[in-house]
Amino acid sequence: MSEKEIIIDVTSKCVMNCMYCGTTSFSDEISNIDFELFKKIVNSLRYLSKTRVFLGGGTFFCHPEWKKMLELIKSNENTFVIDCPLEKNIINIICKNRPVRFNYFPSISLWGIGDEHDKLCGGNSFGLLDHYIRSHSKWGIPLHLSFVMTKSLIQQVRSLIEFMCKLPLGANIYFHRFMPVGKALGEDLPTMESLQDFKNEVLYGISKTAVAKFHHTLDGICKAAGNSRIFINHDGLVYKCGWINKTSVPIYNLHEKSIIDFNKLFQKATPVNTQCVLK
Ligand code: SF4
Repeated sequence: MSEKEIIIDVTSKCVMNCMYCGTTSFSDEISNIDFELFKKIVNSLRYLSKTRVFLGGGTFFCHPEWKKMLELIKSNENTFVIDCPLEKNIINIICKNRPVRFNYFPSISLWGIGDEHDKLCGGNSFGLLDHYIRSHSKWGIPLHLSFVMTKSLIQQVRSLIEFMCKLPLGANIYFHRFMPVGKALGEDLPTMESLQDFKNEVLYGISKTAVAKFHHTLDGICKAAGNSRIFINHDGLVYKCGWINKTSVPIYNLHEKSIIDFNKLFQKATPVNTQCVLK
């Protein structure tokens, strides 16, 4: 049975204002998941095995009740991955609330190497990465980084490979698809062919020290939406995937029941026509 993925949009708030990101942070539309609903979700996860739960948005650590949320996931048996921007306060929070203690993997989001990252997220934080990697090396868990495959990242492929070859043994690098939402609307997206070439070049070029994983849309047609992946938004509405056309209807409202039967929910969410916007 393939590992299930639950993606929870915890908050739309973020400390950064990255050029291609689709969150509504820095607007009047900030929304946070209700803590009681989050608690119900995490408690109901006990009945699901082999599940990877992604906590993002926005930035998990911008939710007003993130401390209570961390306490909740601490004793849960599932795997939690928290997407985190490379930003001073967020890195300090991670260092103070160590992943091994609270049962999560921070995945640091990068937009490129060096100045290219700084340019796309409007800051100068890339220099923090070395400090973060040094702190991380003491925790005894694999380093997780992620990149979005923008056109500029594709152009930087040689520097990227050089960078990856210097990472600590066992580092995991995940390559996301570009987000065709929000501020990214109308941007010049890389073609599927250029993404495949990029993937081949990275896999050929990296040393065996790092593990590169690519967004599953590079492997063919969608079998995941609803089948092994669901998306939960701030209002507790469940969709087969966050990348399905925005006009699609939610398959469930988590506010409706006191206990959530995720096994049933996945059965109910079997894919039909996914209308993935990433195709
Ligand atoms: S809808 Fe798109 S992003 Fe979502 S699971 Fe399917 S292929 Fe993947």
